[in-house]
Amino acid sequence: MKRLQVSGVSPAFHRDIELIAGLFYPGVKVTEDREEMDASVHFTVEETEWVNVSVTLAVPSREQAWHGSHRREHVSAVLDERTRRKRVKPVVNHALLQVLEEATGVRQPWGILTGVRPTKLMHNLLLEGKSVLEARNVLERDYRLAPHKLDLLEEIMNRQITVLPDLYQLDREVSLYVGIPFCPTKCAYCTFPAYAIRGRNGSVEEFLEGLHKEIEATGKWLKKRGLPVTTIYFGGGTPTSITAAQLEALFERMKACIPGFDQVRELTVEAGRPDTLEQEKLDLLKRWKVDRISINPQSFKEETLKLIGRHHTVKETVEKFALARKMGLNNINMDLIIGLPGEGLETFRQSLRVMESLHPESLTVHTLSFKRGSHMTRNPEKYPVADGEEIASMVAEAREWTGEQGYVPYYLYRQKNILGNQENVGYALPGEESLYNIIIMEERQTIIGLGCGAVSKIISPGSGRIRRWPNPKEPQAYIDTYREQIGQKLAALDQAYGYPVESKG
Ligand code: SF4
Repeated sequence: MKRLQVSGVSPAFHRDIELIAGLFYPGVKVTEDREEMDASVHFTVEETEWVNVSVTLAVPSREQAWHGSHRREHVSAVLDERTRRKRVKPVVNHALLQVLEEATGVRQPWGILTGVRPTKLMHNLLLEGKSVLEARNVLERDYRLAPHKLDLLEEIMNRQITVLPDLYQLDREVSLYVGIPFCPTKCAYCTFPAYAIRGRNGSVEEFLEGLHKEIEATGKWLKKRGLPVTTIYFGGGTPTSITAAQLEALFERMKACIPGFDQVRELTVEAGRPDTLEQEKLDLLKRWKVDRISINPQSFKEETLKLIGRHHTVKETVEKFALARKMGLNNINMDLIIGLPGEGLETFRQSLRVMESLHPESLTVHTLSFKRGSHMTRNPEKYPVADGEEIASMVAEAREWTGEQGYVPYYLYRQKNILGNQENVGYALPGEESLYNIIIMEERQTIIGLGCGAVSKIISPGSGRIRRWPNPKEPQAYIDTYREQIGQKLAALDQAYGYPVESKG
């Protein structure tokens, strides 16, 4: 199905209808034009003390129609138009999901939930005073979450509170994210700020100059405001794409400028691409007491790595992992991606067998998502992927296998256009979880982003209001603007924390 004609509801609902229908028919577009449609959906909405939505889905090519309905309590008399729509929209989505599940025989495990952070939703329900059981009931009733996803959310939430007992009180500390926007080459599925580093020496130096300035200014601000730092995370890109000397200079700058640098609860450096690692850099990470690194295979199938443009081999991943172990790095994360082109359950099982022999401390299992703007999304014909059922079986396999190997799930997030409408889950051996990953997903603390493509999330203590402050993604734009950006960002931080705004320009 490519075109779905919609009638009976305000166009304000069309975007959500397209998202829900897209779970069943990827890429489907909503239209009001009967002439160009492949199927039609008609809603009847009644508002009394209940919102009642009836829906009929008709597919002319199958000469069939399906009917569904959903209702929820309502208090329309006291609502303004915007709030009223907010109440009606989930009922429309719910009825639509029901009818599409019936027509296709496909059950959506996350129901009508299209957001990125389902665990945050569960935390919020607890903070409102609900019990875990009540929170589960709300998610099941209002969003149609499947029981196995509710179990997963509950397990993750419990783990997060065990690992970070002060998660709900972390808003008087901050974490830092450092974005290094370079990689050896660009992977086909990637939309991160990641620029091939070769031939860029000039701009790398200029970028690092700006980053040093940002670290200095941020350190001064933290000192002045007396805010402790919980975690520091180097990401990108691949931070280990820069030279050992450049990386060491950054650590030195941090030690000199960031108050309590030696006492932060966790320091992580993504060394995602094995082709960026060598003895000298691993030695440096060890010397600087980096707590956690990532070495990401994504797949242990050689052809897949070639197809997605990773430019490293399976052998190289295994060798670099062994070298990191030899150098004494004892908290290593590895990422796998479910649903890479040409891969199915058997290939995934093969990757898990290799993973078993390496036994990293944590394993992040992503499900492939076709992100807007990636090479893969622009050329889908070159990248055939498994169907939703097979994706679901790989996700289930990952959950079972990690359990058998002693890993526990501890963070989760979802993305748009993720295959099979599944999720990404971080698993870790107990005690080896990444605190930063929990903090960024649950949005309980300000994260100050430094460097290219780093997005600061400024969370006002108390109110929890979030303001996003993105640094430029492109190195040249960062180089051109960091002088003004630094002051503006610190002023935004002052404002959020209720301090008089002093920094300007
Ligand atoms: S290594 Fe990571 S950041 Fe770099 S291009 Fe590949 S997916 Fe993107």
